[in-house]
Amino acid sequence: MNLNDFLESIDKISNHKVSLVAVSKYVGNNEILNLHTQGQIDFGENKVQDLVKKSDDFKELNLNWHFIGNLQTNKINALLRTHPTLWQSCNSLNLAIAVDKRLDYTLDTLLEINIADEKSKNGANKNEAIELFHKIKQNCKNINLKGIMCMGANSDNEKLVAKSFENAYKIYSNLTKFGAEILSMGMSGDYEIAIKNGSNMIRVGSLLFAK
Ligand SMILES: *Cc1c(COP(=O)(O)O)cnc(C)c1O
Repeated sequence: MNLNDFLESIDKISNHKVSLVAVSKYVGNNEILNLHTQGQIDFGENKVQDLVKKSDDFKELNLNWHFIGNLQTNKINALLRTHPTLWQSCNSLNLAIAVDKRLDYTLDTLLEINIADEKSKNGANKNEAIELFHKIKQNCKNINLKGIMCMGANSDNEKLVAKSFENAYKIYSNLTKFGAEILSMGMSGDYEIAIKNGSNMIRVGSLLFAK
C-alpha cells in the first residue's frame, strides 16, 4: 500500500497524533527500502536475529528499529548491541532486571500487557500491570519506561476487540502521571479500533506491505 494514502487514512480517523511502526518481519530489504523511500523511518521486528541483520544492512540510513517480539535471555546482548529505538515487549520484572543489568545506556521501553488474557500471548497480567510498571521503574535504572504495548483481543467481534483496547487505555491513563506517553496498540486488522480507543502508536505489517 502507498504510505501516504495509509497515513492520510489514519489522519481521518484520529484527532490526535498517531505514529506508525512498519512491521517488516515478513519482508526483505527491498520492501523496507521502498517504504523508506516514501518517508517511513520507524520499523519493527519480532526476532532479534532479524533486527540485528536488518539494522546492520541499513545502518547508513539511520532508521529507527523497534523490538516487538518475545526476548529470550540468551539474545539480550545481541539486541542491546543494536541500540534499538524502543523495546516494546518488556513483559516481566525478571526480564527487565536481566536487561537492565546488561545495559550501559538508557533504553526506552514499553511494558507489554496481555490485555485480553489470552494463553497464546505474551505480556504481563493486566491486573498486575500498574504495580509491575512501578516495580520496573524502581528497580531498573537503565530502563526508561515510556508506556505500554498490547495486542487487541483475537476475535471477529469488534466489541470485544474495542473492550480490550479500552482496558489498555485505562491502564495507560493511570500511568501518564508516572511518565507514560506511548500507548502502542493496533495492527493491520484492528488499528482503526485501536486509534478510536486512544492508541498513539500503531504497529502495522501485512496491510502496509501488501502488494
Ligand atoms: C506481527 C506483529 C505486528 C503486525 O502485524 P500485522 O497484522 O501484520 O499488521 C504487530 N505487533 C506485533 C507484536 C507483531 O508481532
